[in-house]
Amino acid sequence: MSAASRIITFVPPRHPAAIDLAGKDRARDFALPLLDGQQRPLRDLRISVTDRCNLRCTYCMPREVFDQDYSFLPRGDLLTFEEIERIAQVFVRLGVQKIRLTGGEPLLRRGIEQLIERLSRMQTATGEPLQIALTTNGVLLARKARALRDAGLSRVTVSLDGLSDATFRRMSGSDVDVHTILDGIAAAQSAGLAPVKVNMVVKRGANEHEIVPMAEYFRSSGVVLRFIEYMDVGTSNGWRMDEVVPAREILDRIAVHHPLQQLEPSQLGEVAERWRYADGGGEIGVIASVTQAFCHECSRARISTDGKLYTCLFAGDGLDLRSPLRAGASDRGLSGLVADRWEQRNDRYSQQRHLISVRNRDKVEMSYIGG
Ligand code: SAM
Ligand code: SF4
Ligand code: SF4
Repeated sequence: MSAASRIITFVPPRHPAAIDLAGKDRARDFALPLLDGQQRPLRDLRISVTDRCNLRCTYCMPREVFDQDYSFLPRGDLLTFEEIERIAQVFVRLGVQKIRLTGGEPLLRRGIEQLIERLSRMQTATGEPLQIALTTNGVLLARKARALRDAGLSRVTVSLDGLSDATFRRMSGSDVDVHTILDGIAAAQSAGLAPVKVNMVVKRGANEHEIVPMAEYFRSSGVVLRFIEYMDVGTSNGWRMDEVVPAREILDRIAVHHPLQQLEPSQLGEVAERWRYADGGGEIGVIASVTQAFCHECSRARISTDGKLYTCLFAGDGLDLRSPLRAGASDRGLSGLVADRWEQRNDRYSQQRHLISVRNRDKVEMSYIGG
C-alpha cells in the first residue's frame, strides 16, 4: 500500500462549525459554512468500506499488480461500523449532505446493510434525512438489492463497461458474464432504488465500440447511463492520455443516432454533465474529469478503508482519523481535525494535470481511497 502514514498532532478545533452540536449551534454551522482554500464547501463524503474486490478491472486493480501476493489491509486496520458511524456523524455536523459507500467492492463487506441502517438514521444539519448512496460492480446486487433498500439505501450506481461478455470480461479482468450485472440492475430497479445509475468507463481501443450499444440498451429503461473519462488514478493502471475518449466525442457518437439536449445541473457540485434525448428517451451523463476538470466546485471528501481523510481523489497522503478515534478523541476533537484540514485544502489536481511535477506525484489507489 503506497499511502503514506502521517503523525497527527492533536489541536483544538478552530472553526466555529466544529464547536458542536445540536440545536442553536446547528444554525450557526449554516451561517458560517466550512469552506476550503478555494471557497468550496464540504458537502459529500465517500467512504471506502473495503479495499478488496471480486473483479480486477484493468483501469483500477489490474491483475498483474493486485495478484495473490498483494497485501490487502488486515481486518483490524479496517474501520468498524461503529467507527464509520462516528466519523460520518462528525462530517454530517460539518455540512455533509450525502454519503456514498464504495471501495473496493462494498457489497463484499459483511453486514453492509447494518451500516446503511445506522447511517440512514442520521439527519443533515438542516434536518433533512441523510442521503445514502452506494457504488457497486453489481456482481452481488441481484441477491442484495432488496435488503439494501430495506436498510435505508437511497440510491445505487452500478458500474458496467460493455454489453458483450467478451468486452466486459476483458475490462473487468474476470470471467463474470454481463447478465449477472444486468440482473443486479433489474433487481435494484424492482426493489425501488430508482433511478439506478450505470457508470461506464470508456477507454480508447478497449470498449469505445460499446458506447452506442450501451446508450441504445439503456434508452427508455429508467436507468441513467453515465460515461466516465478514463482517469490517471493511482499508479498501477499505466494510464496514457491517448487512451482517454473525450466526453465531447462520446456525446457526438450518440447524437448521430439520437439528438441530445443539455440539462441544467440537478445540484451544486454535480460532477456529471446531464443530457436528455430530444425524443424523450431519458437522460444520460458524461463525467469529463480529464478534458473538462470540475475542481472549482469539488465538495468531496473521502475516507479510506483504514480511516484516513483524503481531500482529493489524486492525493498522495491522508489525515489519520482512526488513531485519534481509537485513542479516545471526542467528537469535538475529531471535528476540529476535519475542519482544520478542510480549511487548508487547496487540491485542484485535474486542473493541474498538465504539470509534470503534479502528474508524477505519488497517488493512492482508487480501490483504497474509494472511487
Ligand atoms: N467496485 C465498485 C464499482 O466498480 O462500482 C466501487 C468502487 S470503483 C473504484 C468506483 C468507480 O470508479 C467505478 O464506477 C469505476 O468504474 C470507477 N473507476 C475506477 N477506476 C477508474 C479510472 N481509472 N478512471 C475512471 N473511473 C474509474
Ligand atoms: Fe473492483 Fe470497482 Fe475497481 Fe472494478 S472499478 S476493480 S469493480 S473496485
Ligand atoms: Fe476534486 Fe481532486 Fe477531482 Fe479536482 S481532482 S475534482 S479536487 S477530487
